[in-house]
Amino acid sequence: MRLNGKRAFITAAGQGIGRAVAEAMTAEGAHVVATDLKGDLLSDIKAAESFALDATDKDALQKAITDAKPDILVNCAGFVHNGTIADCTDEQWGFAFDLNCRTQFHGMQVALPGMVERGGGSIINVSSVASSIIAAPNRFVYAATKAAVIAMTKSVALDYVTTGVRCNCICPGTVDSPSLHQRWEDSGDYEAAKKQFIARQPMGRVGTPEEIAKLAIYLGSDESAFTTGHAHVIDGGWSVG
Ligand code: NAD
Repeated sequence: MRLNGKRAFITAAGQGIGRAVAEAMTAEGAHVVATDLKGDLLSDIKAAESFALDATDKDALQKAITDAKPDILVNCAGFVHNGTIADCTDEQWGFAFDLNCRTQFHGMQVALPGMVERGGGSIINVSSVASSIIAAPNRFVYAATKAAVIAMTKSVALDYVTTGVRCNCICPGTVDSPSLHQRWEDSGDYEAAKKQFIARQPMGRVGTPEEIAKLAIYLGSDESAFTTGHAHVIDGGWSVG
């Protein structure tokens, strides 16, 4: 198995991409510590350990990561605000950066010393193709946070490149998840929104959380030992042109 002997810590593992990553890493032999704001979502997850954790609670997050001693840290917690710059309130700006960026900052900061001490590790931050890679309609603050994730990823990768610790991020396009269906619902016309979101992928479909998990397995495993500091796009061709 590709992650035998490795320990993984994951935020937002209750559903969607985080859950698929947690279960795929478990299937590949990792000891997975799966966490989510909503503990009930974890009741049937296939992971060695699981518990409720608000990733924006710095003390709780850092204690949980210290206890977990991860070789692989997956920073997945994030929220999609819908709207242009005209719609964005200061509260939304603050919430978006707290959840989508500050949690990753706190997670990486506490995980790094242990990884360095143990001679290596792999950090996987979840960004988005809607970031500094491409613009998507109504993703003003969301894209700003996900671009910051790419910047943090590159910065950490460079500063730790000689320690054996690697840091990469995943930039998914449109991925089937409960929050995606909610966004279609919130648009007021579920079917029209679904059609529009599918059409933006030249492949003519949205991705699955399992497809994103396969990339996470690669980045978490030693197969990707020569890869650090990159924004790995997985988007059905959306950003190709
Ligand atoms: P989702 O949005 O359906 O689920 C998000 C999960 O995060 C939920 O289980 C929720 O309980 C948890 N969560 C929310 N606040 C939290 C907090 N404070 N602490 C811990 N957990 C918290 O799942 P998804 O759509 O797969 O999104 C996961 C990540 O992938 C996000 O960072 C998102 O921005 C990113 N992403 C998703 C897509 C997509 O199309 N689905 C595309 C690109 C990037």
